[in-house]
Amino acid sequence: MINLEEFWENCKEELSISIQAISYEVWIEKLEPVCFVDSAMVLATISATAKKTIDSKYLDTIREVASALNPAIKDVVVITADKKEEYLKNQTDFIENEGFVVSKPEPVVKRKNPFLQKYTFDTFIEGKSNAYALAACKTVAEEPGTKFNPLFIYSGVGLGKTHLLHAIGNHIFKNNKTANVLYVTADDLVTEIIQVIRSGSNEENNKFREKYRSCDVLMIDDIQAINGKDATQNAFFNIFNDLYQSQKQIILTSDRAPKDMEKLADRLSTRFSWGLTVDIQPPDMETRVAILKNKAAQSKFALSDEVAEFIAENSTSNIREMEGLLNKIIFFSSLSNTEINTRELAHDALADFIEEKKETIDASDIIDTVCKYFKLSTTDLFSKKKTKNVVEPRMIAIYLITELLSLPLVQIGEMFGGRDHTTIIHARDKISEDIKRNPRIKIIVYDLRNMLLKR
Ligand code: ADP
Ligand code: MG
Repeated sequence: MINLEEFWENCKEELSISIQAISYEVWIEKLEPVCFVDSAMVLATISATAKKTIDSKYLDTIREVASALNPAIKDVVVITADKKEEYLKNQTDFIENEGFVVSKPEPVVKRKNPFLQKYTFDTFIEGKSNAYALAACKTVAEEPGTKFNPLFIYSGVGLGKTHLLHAIGNHIFKNNKTANVLYVTADDLVTEIIQVIRSGSNEENNKFREKYRSCDVLMIDDIQAINGKDATQNAFFNIFNDLYQSQKQIILTSDRAPKDMEKLADRLSTRFSWGLTVDIQPPDMETRVAILKNKAAQSKFALSDEVAEFIAENSTSNIREMEGLLNKIIFFSSLSNTEINTRELAHDALADFIEEKKETIDASDIIDTVCKYFKLSTTDLFSKKKTKNVVEPRMIAIYLITELLSLPLVQIGEMFGGRDHTTIIHARDKISEDIKRNPRIKIIVYDLRNMLLKR
């Protein structure tokens, strides 16, 4: 195939001889070769005035020179730069010895959208707890590979990480049907890598590498699953570097921050923090209610404020679980053909799931649950330590014991290393005040309460 730039260079060499030096510099030197269209060479100039002068004074000479150098070229057209696109659309390939052929447009690979339609930015409710993560995801979806690379999102379970990945995928897909956006869970990646290694086949290995290196955006969900998996970490390290160097977007989600992934090679955990790390916090009451209303609307169910609040209050911060309660309400409504629109009806419908099983709980259940929740030892919980990470769980445990059990305060004081009953009252009142004012404490207490009642 003849190279247009080279060909035009040859033309210029000839022209610099046949046109006066100063005119050559002003009119010819700066012409830009654009493409061939049929049997014509198209050249662009910056202004309409320049085009006029060239057309009237030099076009014949240029044509002569071009045809002399290659007789298949029958014409030369000078256009202004703003017309370039138009000509490029109709460009022709010039095949040496065969003259011009009409170039076929590259076959475009249209991909099938693999992302769930229900998980989009439109169906994701924004709240204080997720605003930052949402903004980062939207930026990455608009301009993959340029701003935050990698984007690392972490949160507790059921707070919307997978939803956001699908939303990014759907968004990119809407803008660009040919983008190769790859979504895998880290579990799948581990399995895939083990299979490649076991197969011992070079072909399998090449296929695997090609699959990951050819993507424009790579999303790995629940990356914590590669913790302690050395072979996967090695393979992923190479994929990461390749994609990163070619400015392909990498998005990772995890149940913890990179620095808290204990069995992760340092070289990976450093890389995970190169871009932007964002977390999603448990949603506050307002956001929970908004999410429920949105989900209900998607299912065309008329959810009353009262029932929405009731569900939000009686669920843990895991939104999937909250949706589960809503689905039960929807199910019972249709089953019994009655509208469940008051707290009482909602309570009845969900009785089996949230029934207060106070009588079956004892103090050690509460203490164990609190310690597990905060990853504390019981020794610390009962100790005299005054650091916040111990004091807060201790007060919450006391609060839950006073609320859920009817034990004498003195007995609770004894349980907690011989503390005075006024200390117990103080702890109880402090947490019950905090629940009203501090959404974080409120969520913790709700979570613990539900963990206890739903065992
Ligand atoms: P994760 O991957 O963090 O465990 P998911 O993305 O699977 O959580 O979310 C669990 C469920 O909660 C999904 O059905 C998702 O649609 C829903 N969800 C989470 N956050 C939101 C939100 N902000 N708005 C609407 N739905 C949400
Ligand atoms: Mg998930």
